[in-house]
Amino acid sequence: MKKNYHTHHELCRHAKGTAKDYASKAYEAGFSVLGFSDHAPSAVITKDARMRFEELETYLKDVEAIKRQYEGKMIIHTGLEIEYLDTNHEYYRDLKRKVEYFILGQHYIRPEDDKSALRGVIGLKKGKDIIEYAKNVESAIKTGMFSLIAHPDIYLASYGRFDEDAEEAATIIIEASLKYDVPLEFNANGVRRGSINSKAGTHYRYPRKEFWDIAVQKGATAVLSADAHSPEQLNDQAIKDSESLIKAWGITTKDTLKF
Ligand SMILES: [Zn+2]
Ligand SMILES: [Zn+2]
Repeated sequence: MKKNYHTHHELCRHAKGTAKDYASKAYEAGFSVLGFSDHAPSAVITKDARMRFEELETYLKDVEAIKRQYEGKMIIHTGLEIEYLDTNHEYYRDLKRKVEYFILGQHYIRPEDDKSALRGVIGLKKGKDIIEYAKNVESAIKTGMFSLIAHPDIYLASYGRFDEDAEEAATIIIEASLKYDVPLEFNANGVRRGSINSKAGTHYRYPRKEFWDIAVQKGATAVLSADAHSPEQLNDQAIKDSESLIKAWGITTKDTLKF
């Protein structure tokens, strides 16, 4: 992998390293492009795993400094990973003005039965909730604000089985990816987290072959991302394993994002 658009920063409180740390690791590994996409500040996600609004400037300045330092050697982009949760368009517009791209990292949904609640996607167990997640992703992509659908199959993490609802959710997401020309991410962080045993056999929580089989059949395109939460993760075994899976599953990839 020589380009990565999904890179975090210690400001999100669950990643390690500054822009400088990630850039030197990427440069050493021969990257031509490094895109930073730390978790955006959020007024609705109160879990302490995001940069604060007042820290956004620090993040932007840190990445800008590195951008200048690597000029002519490696292209650095400034982005954010962000959920699409509310219709507060001002929030998205303000942030979008400050960065080059957004990746959609839909870690929460507003469930149909309680629109004021936030439910973590990683814990979803009901068919109607995973469909809701897929519809959230579709509405997000429709806005045209996003350049990549991060870990599109994360909804299977706790759901496990690949039943009719799982297939319907996959279809909604993959068709949105095709219709609005926003690639699906093959997320190496899912691979990094290791495989599990379920009724469906031994598999990663995500990426899931059943999901990607539909993507391949429909002709969708993937972008491999490190989803690096530490500099080492830009070039670790999970990347190599992901590259092997992409090949084995017959997934068509591209390595450049449009924004
Ligand atoms: Zn994270
Ligand atoms: Zn991420």
